Amino acid sequence: MTLFPEVVNCVLQSSIIGRAQQNGYITVEAHDIRDYTLNKHKKTDDTPYGGGKGMLMATQPICDCFEAVRKLHKEGESTRVIYASPRGRVFNHEIARELSAYDNIVVLCGHYEGVDQRVIDEIVDEELSIGDYVLTGGEIPACIIVDAVARLIPGVLSDKECYEKESIASGLLEYPQYTRPPVFHGKEVPEVLLSGHHANIDDWRLEQSLALTKARRPDLYEKYVLSHKEELLKLEKRIAKQKTNR
Ligand code: SAM
Repeated sequence: MTLFPEVVNCVLQSSIIGRAQQNGYITVEAHDIRDYTLNKHKKTDDTPYGGGKGMLMATQPICDCFEAVRKLHKEGESTRVIYASPRGRVFNHEIARELSAYDNIVVLCGHYEGVDQRVIDEIVDEELSIGDYVLTGGEIPACIIVDAVARLIPGVLSDKECYEKESIASGLLEYPQYTRPPVFHGKEVPEVLLSGHHANIDDWRLEQSLALTKARRPDLYEKYVLSHKEELLKLEKRIAKQKTNR
């Protein structure tokens, strides 16, 4: 639900998310809040009570828009209503996973100074922030949330592995990746990746991921090490063996 559906459509009707819709895996609809205003000048905002700069999105158009959206959902379906807001819980992969379990997600995009609190109290289940900075509107956050959730819906990506092995989802940051040519500006692709030895490639990738995560995200690294002790011991042994064999 937005005052600027063209922003949302521009992002979510193309590329992988656009194709996922064409193939029927998901549906993304941008509902224009302005279509629901009863104001004869099509106004959707007003000045805040108590004074202060800027305008606030008013209750009536948002609530009527929400009623119309709700009618599109089938009986018995689960729905989560999000207000994109810098005051919310900071969005991450775990939250994307939680949201992917719902049949419907409705994202209310604020604009200007935000929305009348009574709308939030009445229709919103949770406020989500995409980070500690303030944007001009909730459209980009909505696209981010929808994109991250959509990738987790079966069929949207060609292979489950695409997201399970990626940064964050796997618990680690992703290892460096290379494609053709084998030498570029004098820089060679690591030999092991050309070896065709899949077990060694997997070990190299895990080693790289561990080193990167330790350096850049020690918080994730600690968590991973604690929950993968046996796997890491085995990896150490295999790498020691590979070194003695060389
Ligand atoms: N006055 C609000 C405040 O101080 O919290 C900020 C309003 S902001 C200029 C306009 C709209 O952009 C918000 O209503 C929200 O929907 C969206 N927005 C801005 N930053 C955001 C963020 N970090 N995460 C999610 N939504 C955000």
